[in-house]
Amino acid sequence: MKIQLLPSTFDEHGRATPEQRLTCFLIDDRVAVDAGSIALAATDAQRQTVRDIIVTHPHMDHMATLPIFIDDMFALLKEPIRVYATEEVIGLLQRDVFNWTVYPRFSELANGTCKVMEYVPIHVGEELEVAHLKVTAVAVNHIVPTIGLVASDGKTGVAFSSDTATTEEFWQLVNRMPDVAALFIEASFPNSMSQLADVSGHLTPEGVAAELRKLTHNHLDVLAVHLKPSYRHILVEELNALGIPRLSAMEPGREYEW
Ligand SMILES: [Zn+2]
Ligand SMILES: [Zn+2]
Repeated sequence: MKIQLLPSTFDEHGRATPEQRLTCFLIDDRVAVDAGSIALAATDAQRQTVRDIIVTHPHMDHMATLPIFIDDMFALLKEPIRVYATEEVIGLLQRDVFNWTVYPRFSELANGTCKVMEYVPIHVGEELEVAHLKVTAVAVNHIVPTIGLVASDGKTGVAFSSDTATTEEFWQLVNRMPDVAALFIEASFPNSMSQLADVSGHLTPEGVAAELRKLTHNHLDVLAVHLKPSYRHILVEELNALGIPRLSAMEPGREYEW
């Protein structure tokens, strides 16, 4: 299974910078988990193959360029872009984003060949097929309705915490999964800002360490994501200082394989 965290900013030579401002993971160039940077950073080849997008929650950094991506692809689509989210989040996307004011209600539009966008409701706790993957999501602990999820291609499993403070059900879900090879966990704020992390529904490196103690797997790679760009250096130091084997900060743009 191939996973890339798409970059969200670029240097003067057009190379991806290490800071993560938006969230969009691509799995096997086919399925996106969140769509923050999809329209900015997906390659032409990836644009042709990504038709399934899971939106974990409606915060801007997780769906900022979803409308732009659908707009870009509008005339070219031979099948709809499927947007997977809980009913609650679908309602929020319809109300606040695809509302004919901020952007068109693409789920009601077609290009002559097919509908351009289709919502697929996610029911928490129930396994769902998303392209070549089996996906199960549960609610995590953020300030808006948010899901964490596990995804498997039949051989390899991966887990995404999305944005969350301390949480329980997600870890039970991950612990039940047999072949989990990699976990993507958020680490937004430095340890000194644990109060802000708590009220905004996020984790610090110390919070990550506490969460990882709930994990019964001990042979998986743990990639920290969602490091707030202004604190990236200190966050990387604090993550390293935890001394947790196989924990590192994920590099935007790099292709990882498990
Ligand atoms: Zn969020
Ligand atoms: Zn976020």
